[in-house]
Amino acid sequence: MPVLVMKFGGTSVATLDRIRRAAKRVGVEVAKGYDVIVIVSAMSGETNKLVGFVGETSPLYDAREYDAVVSSGENVTAGLMALTLQEMDVPARSWQGWQVPLKTTSAHSAARIEEIPTDNINAKFADGMRVAVVAGFQGISPEGRITTLGRGGSDTTAVAFAAAFDAERCDIYTDVDGVYTTDPRIADKARKLDRIAFEEMLELASLGAKVLQTRSVELAMRYNVKLRVLSSFEEQSDDAGTLVCAEEEIVESNVVNGIAYSRDEAKMTLISVADRPGIAAAIFGPLSDAGVNVDMIIQNISEEGRTDMTFSCPTDQVARAEKALAEAKERGEINYHDLVADTNVAKVSAVGIGMRSQSGVAAKMFKTLSDEGVNIKVIATSEIKISVLIDRKYMELAVQSLHDAFELDKTA
Ligand code: ADP
Ligand code: ASP
Ligand code: MG
Repeated sequence: MPVLVMKFGGTSVATLDRIRRAAKRVGVEVAKGYDVIVIVSAMSGETNKLVGFVGETSPLYDAREYDAVVSSGENVTAGLMALTLQEMDVPARSWQGWQVPLKTTSAHSAARIEEIPTDNINAKFADGMRVAVVAGFQGISPEGRITTLGRGGSDTTAVAFAAAFDAERCDIYTDVDGVYTTDPRIADKARKLDRIAFEEMLELASLGAKVLQTRSVELAMRYNVKLRVLSSFEEQSDDAGTLVCAEEEIVESNVVNGIAYSRDEAKMTLISVADRPGIAAAIFGPLSDAGVNVDMIIQNISEEGRTDMTFSCPTDQVARAEKALAEAKERGEINYHDLVADTNVAKVSAVGIGMRSQSGVAAKMFKTLSDEGVNIKVIATSEIKISVLIDRKYMELAVQSLHDAFELDKTA
């Protein structure tokens, strides 16, 4: 029988009632003749609560135990979803990551999926089971420890299952009815897109649009998974939501198709670093070894052999970054006067594949922000995106004014 993957995010399984609603939707697909793999997230708020417990218990925690704790939210929903389906007379059972087994690397809290053997679940399908409910976000390392795939990782579990089982489609049910030109929660004028290209979705996701985890888009692109984002709250037709697809399948497109933001950015400045060959390696080597994800970097011009070096990283990695740099200083590998962390910044980005062939986007972006009196602290560009770091208090204003300036409320 054809296989369908259906993923339900945290808000879609937040209560027993919502789990029932999701299960009914699964029942509809089963009735159409699909064998269904349901990927569930933890009930909304659960993972945050667990992350909080870990941080409170141990600020520089052992990542293996972080994963042991934080993965548990999904186990609860997987069991409850299987029970709910059974109550509806749909043959179903739950699977935790290790039972599949969903094999990952050992990079705890940011593990990558290596392999999903299909035989266990397929044997059950052959036996009459119609729904395999799989706990999203989790797997097992070569050492036999529980791993997690990074926040939002259930999306990636879903796409990886769709690829492994050659599913007809991977439907991501969430609390919005598709992918919008920007987060509809902060811009009223955000417009739902019927289709979005993999490349654009990839950029938007990596720049903070959390509607899909970045890695899930990467996998969908690589394995050509038919990926759809839709609402679990509304009745759905077959073409509801947003289809994430190849660029060639999109007829009309604006130059800029989306504005993304990320609140969780910190700007760190090393003041007065000795400017000599190898200094960048001496700074960013230890940061990388400490697992700090450095994003933007600027090095100022130097005066009398000393310079300031600024970089950005996620706010929750500031403590790690400070520790790694202090240790490098102690070892005599680097020398700086001060390290200043500014955690009141946000990153706002404009994304569009049309930027490859059209100039002037950066100028328009900077002019728009300047007209609003928003000061730009750091700039980064790539072929299809421009990002700026600004004071967090201006973030929503920046998103809304850029959305207006690029006329994203209108179709091309
Ligand atoms: P789930 O719990 O279902 O995985 P998430 O909270 O991870 O849901 O992702 C859905 C949220 O993503 C939406 O509620 C919305 O606020 C946010 N979001 C950010 N950018 C976008 C965008 N461009 N389009 C749609 N939603 C977006
Ligand atoms: N529950 C996990 C999180 O909140 C994974 C997910 O929902 O995708 O990050
Ligand atoms: Mg999510």
